Amino acid sequence: MTEQISLVDYLVLGDEPHLVAHECTACGARFFDRRNACAECSGTEFRSVDIPTEGELRTFTIVAFAAPGIPVPFVAGVVDCGGTSVRANIINVDADPEHVTLGMKVRLAMFSLGTDEAGTEAVGFGFEPAA
Ligand SMILES: [Zn+2]
Repeated sequence: MTEQISLVDYLVLGDEPHLVAHECTACGARFFDRRNACAECSGTEFRSVDIPTEGELRTFTIVAFAAPGIPVPFVAGVVDCGGTSVRANIINVDADPEHVTLGMKVRLAMFSLGTDEAGTEAVGFGFEPAA
C-alpha cells in the first residue's frame, strides 16, 4: 500500500482528510503556520481545531503567468470555511470567470504531487467546486 505524506503539516490525511488550524486560546484567532505568539493579541497558547472541509470562495485571482514549470492558468483563492479563511488554489475547474465565481461553494480536494521510489506519495490540497 502506498504511504501518503502531506505537503503541508496542517493537512491531515486519512479516511476523512481535513485541515487543522492553530487557534489562539486567548482571542480565537486561527493560523495555519506555526507561531510562537498570536499575531492578534500576542497570546502564546494555541489549540488545534479542525476546519470544515466545505466553504465559500471569498476572493480569487486567475493567475496567467507563473514561474517556469507551473501550469497556467490556475486559480488562487481564499476560501471561507466556517469563518476561517484558507488560502488555496481552486482546482478541478476551468480557470476562467465563467466557471469560477465569488461565493461559489467549494470543498476540500486532494491531489497527488507524485510518488517517490519508495512508494511514498506526496499529497497537496486545493478546493474544488462542490457539485
Ligand atoms: Zn490571540
